[in-house]
Amino acid sequence: MTRLATRRMIKIDALPAFTDNYIWLLQDPERRRCAVVDPGDAAPVLAWLAAHPGWQLSDILVTHHHHDHVGGVERLKAASGARVLGPAQEKIPARDLALAEGDQIEVLGHGFRILEVPGHTLGHIAYYQAEQHWLFCGDTLFAGGCGRLFEGSPEQMHESLSRLAALPGQTLVYCTHEYTLSNLRFALAVEPDNRQIARRLEQVSAWRAAGRISLPSNLDLERATNPFLRSGEAAVKERIEQRDGRRERSPSEVFAGLRAWKDTF
Ligand SMILES: [Zn+2]
Repeated sequence: MTRLATRRMIKIDALPAFTDNYIWLLQDPERRRCAVVDPGDAAPVLAWLAAHPGWQLSDILVTHHHHDHVGGVERLKAASGARVLGPAQEKIPARDLALAEGDQIEVLGHGFRILEVPGHTLGHIAYYQAEQHWLFCGDTLFAGGCGRLFEGSPEQMHESLSRLAALPGQTLVYCTHEYTLSNLRFALAVEPDNRQIARRLEQVSAWRAAGRISLPSNLDLERATNPFLRSGEAAVKERIEQRDGRRERSPSEVFAGLRAWKDTF
């Protein structure tokens, strides 16, 4: 049997946590095994497992050390014996496997490559599955926005986002927060003439009004509408230069200007 023939069909759902976090739940229905990404709270995952008898939680994937991403890890590991994977450069509770740039791992029969994406935190990693086009990027790239710079520099975050933006356009962006609506309002303030941003804002507003999740996004859409991936665009550069009164900025300086503006938007 070829490797392709044994590859598992995986279903991915979001388990809401706290006010605006999502815990991504990857499910292999045939083997009744599942994995979660960034369980800041164990309760939603334990409730799902209780409602699905016979299912085994096999892996817990962590992108970075913030409490709303790791708060449920120890309880879930104790309850299930799941393997805990997380960034090598950060303190992750109950971690079994420490991951660094270029590492290859297998979860539910699918290979993932690890990308180090410092900026939001210094050791932040992303999990990328090239055949299925999945990107679990934590608090680095958001739909229409990006994470705050708690530990890294604008240059680091700009470089990290540029790496993610260079992945294929159909890549699905599974980030960890429902911030899309406020991100797109900012995006429209940056680029008032960008029709794609206006259309996306309208669409996401309708989804949210109907209680629908706005994720996953994809990289084609992000490159067209996310200002933090567009700091090389003339319109974005001009807007930041006009706002801050400084000329001839590099894309990473434009990015820094955007991030500072968004912090108080
Ligand atoms: Zn965070």
